[in-house]
Amino acid sequence: MVKIKDETHFVPASGTPLPIFQRELEDGGRAFYAPGYLVVVDKAHAFQPELNQPAPAFAHLHTHAHKALIQWKALAERPFLPLCLTLYLNNECNLHCAYCFSMPQPHTAPRLEREAIRAGAEIVARNCEEQGRALTVVFHGGGEPTLHQNELETALSTVEQIAATHGIPIFRYLATNGVMPEQRARWIGAHVDLIGISCDGTPEIQGAQRPLRGGASSAPYLERTAQIIREAGKPLHVRVTLTPGTFLSQAEIAAYVCRVLRPSEIHVEPVYGVGRGAHMEESWHPEDADRFVAAFEEGRAVAARYGIVWRTSGVRMGEIHGPYCHIFRDVLNLIPGGATTACFCASDADTVTTRHTAIGHWQPGTVFPLDRDHIRHMQQVVSSPQGACERCFNRFHCTRGCPEVCPWDGAMQAVETTFRCRVARALANTQLTAEIATLQNSSDYYLLGIAAKEIQTL
Ligand code: SF4
Ligand code: SF4
Ligand code: SF4
Repeated sequence: MVKIKDETHFVPASGTPLPIFQRELEDGGRAFYAPGYLVVVDKAHAFQPELNQPAPAFAHLHTHAHKALIQWKALAERPFLPLCLTLYLNNECNLHCAYCFSMPQPHTAPRLEREAIRAGAEIVARNCEEQGRALTVVFHGGGEPTLHQNELETALSTVEQIAATHGIPIFRYLATNGVMPEQRARWIGAHVDLIGISCDGTPEIQGAQRPLRGGASSAPYLERTAQIIREAGKPLHVRVTLTPGTFLSQAEIAAYVCRVLRPSEIHVEPVYGVGRGAHMEESWHPEDADRFVAAFEEGRAVAARYGIVWRTSGVRMGEIHGPYCHIFRDVLNLIPGGATTACFCASDADTVTTRHTAIGHWQPGTVFPLDRDHIRHMQQVVSSPQGACERCFNRFHCTRGCPEVCPWDGAMQAVETTFRCRVARALANTQLTAEIATLQNSSDYYLLGIAAKEIQTL
């Protein structure tokens, strides 16, 4: 388990129950932060009763704090009206990744039934029509969604027909390991709008972390798939999972991915310490979080030279968000067997049953009933303040330890002892530190002793 040492971050500002945080600066000044808004004052202003200052910047600070509370409450309490349909078509895979969270099963495992897809698509299409939105369909796993092309084609045409019946546009996203026959990759290039391929880096890293089931490297296959997708003119994103063995190589990984796969975006995430990856959580060292963030910035700099976005999803400073649960993200996620799961990690019927994450279950001949009471209960439990997150400056922009720390599962380790938390704090702190420096160099700060700005997701 990672041990966390005390650090100087933003701490709750005194004299207010609002989520406003402060940090002493080296020059005697002070920085104040409310979700999405940063104020920096010089030494002279720092000695005044800070939060009651008349400057408009402080009014904005309060407004942002109020807004964050309102948005969080809405997130936690609003009715679940899914606008995105995520389909785990099967629980099988042609790879044997060292850290797989979903632990794919044998070929005899059940697949997602067409009628269940139809019923789920109906619910989502109706919501999209009412809100005048496009329907997003996501093919993901649980396993590798491209393994059985007939089923993929059938699922897609089913959803497309329903979207057409409701007169709404459709956006198609596929997350794949990229290992598939050439013809299938061409079909995907022709029929899917955005493709996300998982690639952990150079062929050496990829071969070691994401081998084929027989042990050979998957790198040549995904390089070919990426090329076919590019030739089809479709946008490509790459997902990089960083492990204790690779996180320091982010610059090298970025160079390879940018040069060879040439995506428009690269999303890097520390490995999930669940499933087959559970043992990796033990391998992180306390100092690794700061080194992780330094290496993350190196990777970002390399990607920027290619004009490619380099980001991570665990901390998004411009958004009010929480853990990855589908009930907060308007996602209806169907799994083989016909259940819809609130947790992306629960990808097969047994796990969903054991963890009570089913929020609906399709039955032949019925509409898709959603268990509204269970959804509300899950929303309540997962959105409740937990341990160190309760007082953390980062709590509205952080996935709060998910998936290693799950309020729904109850038996959690303290979130602040996890590597994910430490990285999240370090990433947020690094961004805010850079923004503070920018403000301190501004003319407002020089002339007025106070400067402020909105904070966006990088
Ligand atoms: S490709 Fe995905 S589902 Fe398959 S073994 Fe790797 S992590 Fe698991
Ligand atoms: S918080 Fe728990 S239920 Fe929600 S996505 Fe994370 S692991 Fe799943
Ligand atoms: S997980 Fe850590 S960084 Fe994120 S909100 Fe909780 S305490 Fe803060």
